Amino acid sequence: MSADDPTPAPGAPRLSVVWFKRDLRLHDHGALFAAAGGPVLPLYVAEPDYWALPDTSYRQWAFLRGSLAELRNDIRARGGDLSVQTGTVTDTLAAIRDRHGPFDLHSHMETGNAWTYARDRAVGAWCRATGTPWTEHRQFGVWRGADLSRDRWASRWDALMSEPIRTEPEHVDWVDAAPSGIPDADDLGLAPDGIVSLQTPGRQAGLRLLDSFLTERGEPYQKAMSSPVTGETACSRLSPHLMAGTLSMREIYQATQARIAALDAVARPERGRWPGALKSFVGRLHWHCHFMQKLEAEPEIEWLPMARAYEGLRPVPNDDARLTAFAEGATGYPFVDACMRYLRATGWINFRMRAMLMSFASYNLWLPWQMSGAVLARLFTDYEPGIHWPQSQMQAGETGINAVRIYSPVKQGHDQDPEGVFTRRWVPELAGLSGTALQEPWTLPDPPPDYPARIVDHQETARLAKTRIYDLRRTDAARAEASAVFEKHGSRKPRRARRKSPRAGRGAT
Ligand SMILES: Cc1cc2nc3c(=O)[nH]c(=O)nc-3n(C[C@H](O)[C@H](O)[C@H](O)COP(=O)(O)OP(=O)(O)OC[C@H]3O[C@@H](n4cnc5c(N)ncnc54)[C@H](O)[C@@H]3O)c2cc1C
Repeated sequence: MSADDPTPAPGAPRLSVVWFKRDLRLHDHGALFAAAGGPVLPLYVAEPDYWALPDTSYRQWAFLRGSLAELRNDIRARGGDLSVQTGTVTDTLAAIRDRHGPFDLHSHMETGNAWTYARDRAVGAWCRATGTPWTEHRQFGVWRGADLSRDRWASRWDALMSEPIRTEPEHVDWVDAAPSGIPDADDLGLAPDGIVSLQTPGRQAGLRLLDSFLTERGEPYQKAMSSPVTGETACSRLSPHLMAGTLSMREIYQATQARIAALDAVARPERGRWPGALKSFVGRLHWHCHFMQKLEAEPEIEWLPMARAYEGLRPVPNDDARLTAFAEGATGYPFVDACMRYLRATGWINFRMRAMLMSFASYNLWLPWQMSGAVLARLFTDYEPGIHWPQSQMQAGETGINAVRIYSPVKQGHDQDPEGVFTRRWVPELAGLSGTALQEPWTLPDPPPDYPARIVDHQETARLAKTRIYDLRRTDAARAEASAVFEKHGSRKPRRARRKSPRAGRGAT
């Protein structure tokens, strides 16, 4: 076969195109592993239409771009090159077919947003029309079609993650890729979005994080994860790497299990808080896929509540004043604004504060989670649709099966930033305040003039929200839907482990 004549020579091994998506690594890469027996053309397609969506952003591309550059260098070091194309995947595949003749397509299965789902269906249709076999390899504990049942989900997840790692193939016959460059943000129409310190992209950075979390940073994880002050270093910070696939979930899981086994071998007093921390971390790794499974099972929950009785509960506002104040960190609630400004600058914030931000937008500002969720999605470097949308609607109380948890922005400020260091740093207008005045500047006779007045009364709006939600929850329609939602999406943990939090559904937390 030559570039001019795409007919493969008789008996020539068939070409495989390995389509890299959000799996930017060579190690434990099921698609590459399966393709490596014959010639391989490694491909990445930057899709401008994807990057024009309201849930995508500059920071997400910046992280992917850096990770892609490292992957390309890794392939170059092995004698090949990564073909990076800009356009649509179907056009790109058609051009490859014109140049190289028929091929097999290998990729990882993706649970993305509605756009990537439609794109994958278009690729599937192209493959069927051209007789191109496409194998989608599983990298996460997420199942499709007939395999959707939740009943054995957790044990299947454990079994999948315990499978042997697909080590990088010793030799790959890389096919000459068409010369290409990695587009920069500007080429994709993405303007800088205020990110000041992007997490370091690429596999090497991911490996360093994994190692430092498991051996140095992670011991206080269980307690420290709740505060943005301590969570910054005590959380693993692996989320953008899972988003970009620079590390595989399996290798993270197995590295953690190896560390747990090593700890088992040392005397109990020397283990410190590590065993609890690592057990809790493994639980979070399950959650990653548990949430993604929800979107895989019902893609509509990207925009519809799992319990449809909640549809339209929060109307789209007539003006964008509340959404803008939320997005800009100018709500007049110091801890909410500090968290938002920190997120805008860094692209990350800890779980509890993400939940508080969504709670504030949903209960206090009564904004539809689809709108506030898009603001947060753009700000998260680690935006993962399968986690993000189910979490967003859960924190807004619209799944019908989860406890309604309304966070008090004042209490959270006192609990998670007791010294006020974080709040003062990110809301410098309040640099001279501390204690109650810092978290509730509206109580001062002369509040700092350059800081916005609070946008709503948090106690009054929380009371009203609770009444609205519980009135709806008590209706026959909502009750009937709850069991169907649980059947489809609920965790099958034993009852004992699902004991209700004493605070669930009561006061603000
Ligand atoms: C409204 C809202 C939106 C969210 N959107 C995203 C998102 O777009 N992308 C994303 O990766 N996470 C999202 N999360 C979950 C969670 O906040 C982040 O995964 C976590 O803060 C990432 O930091 P880390 O890697 O240091 O987490 P660690 O605490 O170190 O956890 C390790 C990994 O476990 C998984 N994980 C941890 N907590 C959760 C959780 N509550 N639900 C599901 N998986 C979890 C993640 O993959 C994470 O990287 C969201 C949470 C909320 C409340």
